Amino acid sequence: MNPEIVLKYQFVEFIPDDLEQGTIYISIRFATASHLCCCGCGNKVVTPIRPTDWKLIFDGKTVSLDPSIGNWSFPCQSHYFIRNNRIKWAPKWSREQIERGRTRDNYAKEGYFGASDVSAEAPIKDDAATVESRKMKKGIWQAVKNWFS
Ligand SMILES: [Zn+2]
Repeated sequence: MNPEIVLKYQFVEFIPDDLEQGTIYISIRFATASHLCCCGCGNKVVTPIRPTDWKLIFDGKTVSLDPSIGNWSFPCQSHYFIRNNRIKWAPKWSREQIERGRTRDNYAKEGYFGASDVSAEAPIKDDAATVESRKMKKGIWQAVKNWFS
């Protein structure tokens, strides 16, 4: 599987044209962050920081981005979380999941910005509902296991 990757971060005013692999660049002024896809394919991932896109969490030492980053528009289709500078690889999505996520994402943005600001370029994010239901299933399974043990 993929080796564990620890990202460096840099706060910048402008996101540079040439990004270094393994560094996430954060511009507070433009409320955006950018990094090269963590799979190593060299594609540039732009994650706008705003209520309908990503949240940036900076704890003074590490950065996290929420929700996950799904690079469905790249050939690699990589999907991962950035948590405390570390990359947590997530399962790839099926075509249907991507389509569903995209529709929901666009819908959320239309509600927030009006229909004009729907960017097809931006990678879409994992939807919280999926994660929640996954967690819930695990919880139920745990309860069943406890019942029998
Ligand atoms: Zn990639």
